[in-house]
Amino acid sequence: MSQSELYQAVILDHNRSPRNFGRLPEPCRHAEGYNPLCGDKVSVFVRVADGQVVDARFEGDGCAISRASASLMTQAVIGRSESEARALAEAFVAMVTGQTVHDRDLLGKLVALEGVAAYPMRVKCASLSWHAMTAALDGRDQPVSTEAAR
Ligand code: ZN
Repeated sequence: MSQSELYQAVILDHNRSPRNFGRLPEPCRHAEGYNPLCGDKVSVFVRVADGQVVDARFEGDGCAISRASASLMTQAVIGRSESEARALAEAFVAMVTGQTVHDRDLLGKLVALEGVAAYPMRVKCASLSWHAMTAALDGRDQPVSTEAAR
């Protein structure tokens, strides 16, 4: 199997059986993403406790790339600190927009989506859930008491 076939297989697998698909019960942070160019819609849910992303889920409708990317995103951010999750989003967006990624090791199996950089129409499909995830992290709509619970 060539590397591009392997990457293709990862994308197909995550599209067919998305991981962490669904909603998180409250309390959680939540944000919506919409990519009008393709029609992708994604809702991202994250639970942050003590500065750590302890759970992440997504739901929505979209193309194979957007679903696979959202699925990989949830797996990649669970267990990371909030700042690591943000750094990962930056590195991912840099990768799919063809910029130099300084910390490539951070990306792990997210490199499966590197080929997207060659297809400008697909870049937004791939980055949508990442933008929604950082928007969810930015959200201040949940009760302060749960956030402060340690
Ligand atoms: Zn799409």
